[in-house]
Amino acid sequence: MSLIPAYAGGNPPHLNNVIIISIDALHPDALRQAKIPTLSKLMQSGAYTLDGRSTEPPKTLIAHTAMFTGMAPGENGKVDNDWITGEATVQKPTIFDSAQRNGFKTGYFYSKEKLGYLVNDAVDVHEWSRDSAIDSAGAFIKTPGRHFVFLHVSGLDQVGPESGWLSPAYIEELSYIDDYLSSLIELISVDKNYLIIVTSDHAGHGKIHGSHHPEDYRLPLVVCSDAVPINQYQNISFSVFDLKKMLGDLLQNDSS
Ligand SMILES: [Zn+2]
Repeated sequence: MSLIPAYAGGNPPHLNNVIIISIDALHPDALRQAKIPTLSKLMQSGAYTLDGRSTEPPKTLIAHTAMFTGMAPGENGKVDNDWITGEATVQKPTIFDSAQRNGFKTGYFYSKEKLGYLVNDAVDVHEWSRDSAIDSAGAFIKTPGRHFVFLHVSGLDQVGPESGWLSPAYIEELSYIDDYLSSLIELISVDKNYLIIVTSDHAGHGKIHGSHHPEDYRLPLVVCSDAVPINQYQNISFSVFDLKKMLGDLLQNDSS
């Protein structure tokens, strides 16, 4: 993989690709334990924090809605963790609305049906796919244009409840995800002028998640770019609500 060094000053060029990868149920400590060459390179060449925090309660759809809207559950209206196809979708503006205004083609690829709640008019291409969200995101990025992608990756959210958070099986699953992501990250890196963000919706402890246990609220944030300044995110305290504002700041730094 040929990641180029993080942005070092001067006039930032036009961003070609912005991708946010949410690895469902990723405990930040797993980034220190698993063999993850792809994510490690992003961490080393970018900025990261292991001090991220989920919503109250720390559950998948509630946390992702906070990420997308920049609002707490009480404010954005999504206080339960359920949604099925055909029900009303998000009513507040999301990260996709800002991306579309910035001239990006938007793609949303997710592996849990309930995340369909977050599809709105500002999403050009969307697909719910249990096993091939990563492949679909790659195919979308290969289409002409500038892309803004939100990719939700499942796996740890199944292994965690079965085998335990940070268990050997959980760590192995993260290595598998890391390997699976490598060609997508390579594709974006080669294209240059990228912004890659890796985060999660919540962690867990033992075989439990979504509880009031402090570990359940934890999540990481990794930010890597060859085009916009990202060093300010090293070791910050991050909340899932902060993602929307962070993207706003970073896209504003884009000279487009
Ligand atoms: Zn989740």
